[in-house]
Amino acid sequence: MADGKYIVFCGVHFMAESADILSRPGQVTVLPDLNAGCSMADMAEITQVENCWEQLIAAGLTDDAGEGITPITYMNSTAAIKAFCGERRGVVCTSSNASGAFKWGFAKTPKILFLPDQHLGRNTGYAMGIPLSDMVVWDPFMINGGVTPERLRAAKVILWKGHCSVHQRFLPEHVDNVRAKYPGIRVIVHPECRWEVCQKADGIGSTEGLLKLIRNSPAETMFAVGTEIHLVNRMGKEFAAQGKKVITLDDSGCLCTTMFRISPQHLCWALENLAEGNIVNQIKVKDDVKHWARVALDRMLEIQ
Ligand code: SF4
Repeated sequence: MADGKYIVFCGVHFMAESADILSRPGQVTVLPDLNAGCSMADMAEITQVENCWEQLIAAGLTDDAGEGITPITYMNSTAAIKAFCGERRGVVCTSSNASGAFKWGFAKTPKILFLPDQHLGRNTGYAMGIPLSDMVVWDPFMINGGVTPERLRAAKVILWKGHCSVHQRFLPEHVDNVRAKYPGIRVIVHPECRWEVCQKADGIGSTEGLLKLIRNSPAETMFAVGTEIHLVNRMGKEFAAQGKKVITLDDSGCLCTTMFRISPQHLCWALENLAEGNIVNQIKVKDDVKHWARVALDRMLEIQ
């Protein structure tokens, strides 16, 4: 982390929290617009996750320290959820190293609790050879997560019922439609998309993985990409010079309204206030949460 006194974070809330967790003592993190959230991160509240964990303990599947189940959370989660995982021998992962995190977890325990994106968890588990029948979805709004004790005992992966509202909008019929319209097109999607969409695609990848798939393709290849629309547009511009055409998988437009909230006006307002000595919209993670979230993040950095 650089030496500046202030970190003015132009991204979403959970990333600003991570910047604060990783910051040096005395550094101040500012998020120019507090509405820059993430609906997926909001789908796993710490009290809901603690409640789920208590029920897993009561079912005899783990102890509080995570001896029977490894909790793994996607980066797109609140600092409190990251800390929950860090304190219970768990880890944070990205869409690039989710399979590494699964392998790491299974080396310690027979089960994984994956938060908060059920699709990334399901796609990762399936790609590693875990059948869908060995994965259950924990719905925090249902009694006992909506899962019978027998299914919980048999499951290898417990998926939290969360999703990205942008990626979940892509449907299998979008893949069929785009293939019918552009014969020969290659369909590549982010693992936050539904399992049924991923199964139909020619390739699955994190943001970096999708870029790599396009970069390594022959000139003139056409791609339909299942991810956030601003990113698809950027890919289109970047690869146009190589004669590659990149379109969105669903042209009704999948845009993340919160990811693009930080406007030049918000940034200017935050910077002008700092110049006058006023700290606005500070993101300050509590010390105990910071400690355990950092433990989970540091473990993530050791996983490929
Ligand atoms: S696209 Fe938006 S809602 Fe989806 S995970 Fe990213 S920030 Fe969250």
